[in-house]
Amino acid sequence: MKQISVVIVGGGLCGLMAAVVLQLQGLEVTVLDKGKGIGGRLASRRLRHGDAVGCFDFGAQYFKAQHPLFLAWVEDWIKAGVVKVWAEGMGTETGTIRSQGVKLYRGEPSNRSLAQYLAQDLKVVNQEKVNAFHWQDNIWQIHCDSGGIYQGDRLVVTAPLPQTLELLTVSNINLPADIQQTLTGVVYDPCFSLSLLLEQPSLVPDPGGLWLSGEPLAWMACSTKKGISPHGYGVTVQAGPEFSRHYLATDTEQVIALMTAAAQPWSGSAVLASHLHLWRYSHPQNPLDQPFLFGDFPGPVYFGGDAFHGGKVEGAALSGLAIAEHLLNSLAKG
Ligand SMILES: Cc1cc2nc3c(=O)[nH]c(=O)nc-3n(C[C@H](O)[C@H](O)[C@H](O)COP(=O)(O)OP(=O)(O)OC[C@H]3O[C@@H](n4cnc5c(N)ncnc54)[C@H](O)[C@@H]3O)c2cc1C
Repeated sequence: MKQISVVIVGGGLCGLMAAVVLQLQGLEVTVLDKGKGIGGRLASRRLRHGDAVGCFDFGAQYFKAQHPLFLAWVEDWIKAGVVKVWAEGMGTETGTIRSQGVKLYRGEPSNRSLAQYLAQDLKVVNQEKVNAFHWQDNIWQIHCDSGGIYQGDRLVVTAPLPQTLELLTVSNINLPADIQQTLTGVVYDPCFSLSLLLEQPSLVPDPGGLWLSGEPLAWMACSTKKGISPHGYGVTVQAGPEFSRHYLATDTEQVIALMTAAAQPWSGSAVLASHLHLWRYSHPQNPLDQPFLFGDFPGPVYFGGDAFHGGKVEGAALSGLAIAEHLLNSLAKG
């Protein structure tokens, strides 16, 4: 029997979960990602100043596992040493606790480590930006900025939906009007995420995460108290959606200055180094209830990611798992 090949656009959690399951079942899987590192919004970085090295999760902060299917994966990752429980609930600046008693997980030693663990046996091509795909002679031809062309019997696209829709337009693929409307209707918030390497420990209370008023800042996390930065003090500061939208086109240094000043009551000490990242598509405001979208447009293609299955890390993972299950079932049925 011909081996079925699958090309997955996007090496975030959705794409990686689908890839792991499909490869385990003997399919030939290639994951293409435009990023330098794997993991998409499961993103971590280091900042150095002299001997101080701070580690920061500057995308997703933690994740929940409420669905039994995802919980089973998380329990395996804990056994493998790549996930830990960070806390059971997290405080707000007014002293209340959000998600009290709910396990909040993080990657070990950082969130990107989980993506690296999942990717270790996969064929992943980083810095490979897909710019178009065409269904030709019963196979998908996936074209990249590098000039690379990949072929797949099935295509799985897990980029945030505005980027997916842009790819479809460039590829001259017209979706049925109702599907186009559904996908266009998902609205994402932008988010500035600032990593600050500090001279002294931060004033963020234990266990190291703090929900703020929402604007201009929504969240701060102390990397040291979170347990991901043994060799440097640091905080991750996330701006709210209004602030992020307002300053989208503003000079980076100005945004860093505004966010650093707003974070001062909790960062508490001199800043040794900083890095600002803009997530244009940080969170879908209105994720879809369905786990993915599938159709022959004109060849078999899946659209997944955190725009589906309720959003967030858990939604992205469940979307990837659901895509893999559907694809395998469809092959089994012939
Ligand atoms: C600042 C921030 C904080 C967050 N905090 C939390 C949190 O605390 N808890 C939680 O559960 N969730 C949180 N989230 C959301 C969570 O990170 C996402 O829901 C989840 O990681 C999305 O996974 P995904 O695979 O759907 O998408 P992504 O991780 O975005 O993966 C999509 C991938 O597609 C790639 N891509 C896009 N276009 C192309 C192209 N043309 N060619 C090749 N590759 C392409 C991208 O590089 C990316 O790697 C946060 C997100 C942000 C940004």
